[in-house]
Amino acid sequence: MPQKPKHTPMMEQYLAIKEQYPDAFLFYRLGDFYELFNEDAINAAKILEITLTSRNKNADNPIPMCGVPYHAAKEYIRKLIDSGYKVAVCEQMEDPKTTKGMVKREVVQVLTPGTYMGEVNGDGKKNNYLVALEKQGSEYALAYTDIGTGETRVTLLENEDAVLNEIQSVQAKEVVVQSEAQYPVIETLETRLGIIISRQNGKIEDPILTVVLEDITELFCQDVLRLLISYLSHTQKRSLSHIQKAIRYKSDQFLKMDTYARRNLELTTSIRDQQKAGSLLWLIDRTKTAMGGRKLKQWLEKPLISEQAIRNRQLMVQSLLAHYFERMDIAQALSSVYDLERLVAKISFGNVNGRDLIQLQRSLEQLPVLRQILEATGDSIWEATLKQMAEMPEVVALINQAIVEDPPILITDGNIIKDGYNEKLDQYRDAMTNGKKWIASLQQSEREKTGIRTLKIGFNRVFGYYIEVSKANVPNLPEGLYDRKQTLTNAERFITPELKEKEQIILEAEEKSATLEYELFLEIRDQVKKHSKQLQLLAKCISELDVYQSFAEISEEKHYVQPEISSQTKTIHIVNGRHPVVEEVLGKEKYIANNLIMDEQNDILLITGPNMSGKSTYMRQLALIVILAQIGCNVPAEQAELPIFDQIFTRIGAADDLYSGQSTFMVEMVETNQALQYATDRSLILFDEIGRGTATFDGMALAEAIIRYLHGSGKGKMLFSTHYHELTVLEHELSALRNVHVGAIEQNGELVFLHKIMNGPADKSYGLHVAKLAGMPDALLVEAKRILERLESNEKAPLVTDDSQQLSLFSASQMDMNEKQIINEITDFSLENNSPLQVMNQVNDWK
Ligand code: ADP
Repeated sequence: MPQKPKHTPMMEQYLAIKEQYPDAFLFYRLGDFYELFNEDAINAAKILEITLTSRNKNADNPIPMCGVPYHAAKEYIRKLIDSGYKVAVCEQMEDPKTTKGMVKREVVQVLTPGTYMGEVNGDGKKNNYLVALEKQGSEYALAYTDIGTGETRVTLLENEDAVLNEIQSVQAKEVVVQSEAQYPVIETLETRLGIIISRQNGKIEDPILTVVLEDITELFCQDVLRLLISYLSHTQKRSLSHIQKAIRYKSDQFLKMDTYARRNLELTTSIRDQQKAGSLLWLIDRTKTAMGGRKLKQWLEKPLISEQAIRNRQLMVQSLLAHYFERMDIAQALSSVYDLERLVAKISFGNVNGRDLIQLQRSLEQLPVLRQILEATGDSIWEATLKQMAEMPEVVALINQAIVEDPPILITDGNIIKDGYNEKLDQYRDAMTNGKKWIASLQQSEREKTGIRTLKIGFNRVFGYYIEVSKANVPNLPEGLYDRKQTLTNAERFITPELKEKEQIILEAEEKSATLEYELFLEIRDQVKKHSKQLQLLAKCISELDVYQSFAEISEEKHYVQPEISSQTKTIHIVNGRHPVVEEVLGKEKYIANNLIMDEQNDILLITGPNMSGKSTYMRQLALIVILAQIGCNVPAEQAELPIFDQIFTRIGAADDLYSGQSTFMVEMVETNQALQYATDRSLILFDEIGRGTATFDGMALAEAIIRYLHGSGKGKMLFSTHYHELTVLEHELSALRNVHVGAIEQNGELVFLHKIMNGPADKSYGLHVAKLAGMPDALLVEAKRILERLESNEKAPLVTDDSQQLSLFSASQMDMNEKQIINEITDFSLENNSPLQVMNQVNDWK
C-alpha cells in the first residue's frame, strides 16, 4: 500500500485553507513573503514570471513553491487579477514572535476581477462592475455594483439576449450566480465571452443589505441583490458601508443598442483593437476628473429617450457654452478634484491613508469655488445642483488640523498627525526631539571631553545609538565609562549609560507616538466616514458637472450645434452633418459634410455608390449624431432636427464576429433578423450592403425582400446602402423609399469620389467609366453600352441583371437554359407573400 505522504503541520494548515478556496490563488503569508504551493505555484510562476522552487527539495515528493515579498505583493496580485484570476490573501493572525506552535492564519480578503478596487488596466475612467444574475421562469434579474464607487443597479430582463447585451454593455468580467444554478446563458457567458462565473449561496446577511434594498420592492430584484451582497461579504470580509442603495432601472428607459450596434458604432472602443483610441468616447472625452470620465462612459452606453431629461442636459450644456469664462474656471477647479467616489469607498473599506485624506480635503476645498462660479452664471438651471453640492467645512477643518501636508503612504509608521492636534502626541514628540537634540550635541561635548577630534555619534537598527572612535584613538578614551559594543576593521563602537538612557526615551516615545498616531488616524477616518452619503451625492453632482463642461468644450471646439429633438416628430433634418471621428482623423478641411433629410413619409433611404465612396460613413454619421443628441451633447452639423429614437439596429461593415467565431454571413443574418424582429416605429435601422456576404442573386433577393418587408411595416427609419444598383427602381413602387447616391466624377482621367450625397440613384454606367479609364478597347465599350441599355430597358424585372458594378461581359442570350429558368422563377416569385425565411429557403433552392 503506498503511504499517504505526510505533511508538516504548516502544510496541513495550508491545505486546509486552500481547500476552501479552490478557485483562487492562495497567497499564504510566511514572514515577509506570500508563498504559493503545488498547482498554484506552478501556474503563478508562469503568469508572474517568477522562479519556481520547491519545499523539501530532497524529499521524494518535493512540493512546488514560489513566493513574492509582501511589500511588493500588490503588483503581483494586480497582474493575476488583470489576467482574469482570483487571489485569496491569507494573513498571519498572531504575532509569530509571541506565539507557541502554529501561528493562526486566515483568509482576510479574496480579490477577484469583478471586485478589484484598484484601477483596472490603469484606467481610472472605467467602472469595474460585478454582476449577479438570477433566473426565474423565463425572466432574469440582473444586479451590478462597482465596489470601487458603491454604485448599485438592478433590473429585470426578459430573455437571454437581453442578459448578454446588458452584461456586455457594462463590460463585466465576473458574474455571480447561485451555487446550484444551471441555465444556458451561464455557459454562453463563460465559453463565448470568457467571463468568470462565480458561484455563491445568496444567504449571507450583511447589515448593508438594509441600505441596498431600501427602494427595492420586487422580491425577484431583492433576491439577486442579496446574492450580489452575499458574494461581496464572502470575498471582502469587511465593512461594505459605501455600497449605495440600489437603483431599479428598466432597459426601456434608455436608447437600446445591442452588442453588435455598440461595437459597430465604436462608441467606447474601436473595432480594430478594442481600445478607447479611435472611439467616439475617445474623441469627446474632455472630462477633468476620473469620476466624470466614468459618468460620460455610462451616459454614452445608455443614451436617454425622455425628451424632458435630454432637454435638461442640453440646458446645462448651453449655460456653460454661454458662459465661457465661468466654464474655464469650472474646468480648472475640477482639475484639482480627486476621485471622490473612490475615496469614499476606500474610507469605508478601511484602506484609506493620509494621502487620501489630503486628497479629500483638497477636493472639498474646491467646493466653495465651484459653487461661486455656478452662482455667477445667474442661470436658475443650476439650483438643484447647488443644493446637492453641500460644503463640508467640518471635514475640511478636521483634516486640515489633523493631517500633515505630505503624509507617508503607510499609516502605521507615524508622521501623519500634525503638531498641536493631540497633547499626548506632542509630549512624545517633545521627548523625541529633546532626546535627539541631546544626542546631536553629544558629539561636540564628547570630542571636547576626550580630545578625539574624529569621534562620531551614529545610529543603526541593531545597536541603536553609539559613539564611534577609530582604533588608533581607542587608548585615548578614559577607562570605565565606555562600554564596547561592536568592532569594525578600523574603528570601535561604544555606548555609555547616559546615551543608553536617552535612547530608551527616544525609542519608547517613537513607538508610543506611532501607535497613538495610528489610533488618532482611525478616529479621524471614522469621523469622515460619517459623511459618506453626503460625499457620494457630491461625487455624483461633480461628475455630472464635469460631463456637462466636457460636452460644452468639445461642442465649442468642434463647432457642434444643439439639435432640436422631439418625441413628436418623425422628421430627420440634418444640414451639413459630419462623422465626428472620421472628421477628426481626416481633418476638418478634408471631410465632406452631408445633409440627411428624411421627412415624415420618407422611411427608407436607399444609398447607392461605389465601394469606398462613403456610404457606411454616412450611415454611421447619422447614428452617432442621434446618440450624441440623446446623451444631451451638441452634434457635428450646422443644423439638426431629430426625432427621439428608442433603438438603433445596425448591420454595418465587415466586422466579423470576434467573440463567437460565427461566419460573417451568419452574423449578418443574425443582426438583420434582430432588427426585423424587434424594431418599433421609433427605431433607427442601418443596413450596410446586406447580402454582400453571399452569392449575387441570393444576396440581391434577400436585400429586396428585406426592404419590402420593412417598407410600410411601421418600423421606424432605415438607411440601406447597396451596390445592387437594380434595387433603385424600387423607388417607383415603394412610396416611403427615396434614392440617394454618393457622387463621383472623372477628373484628369481619374475617378474621384466626392463623398457627397446627392439625390437620385447612382450613375449606372459607373462600371463602364472604370473600364474606360482602364483603357479597354473602344469596340468592347460600345458593345457593353449597348448591352447595358438593353438590360436597363427591362427594368420591370430588376433582378435579372448581374451585379451592375462589375461590367457584365455576357449578354442574356448566352446564359444557359437552367439560368433562364431560374430567372423566370425569380421574376414570378412573390416577395410580398413570402416571409424572409421562405425567401431564404427559396434562394437556397435556386443556388
Ligand atoms: P463605403 O461604405 O462606400 O465603402 P466608407 O464609408 O467605408 O465607404 O468610406 C471609405 C473612406 O472614404 C473612409 O475611410 C473615409 O476615409 C472616406 N470618407 C467617407 N466619407 C467621407 C466624407 N464625407 N468626407 C471625406 N472622406 C470620406
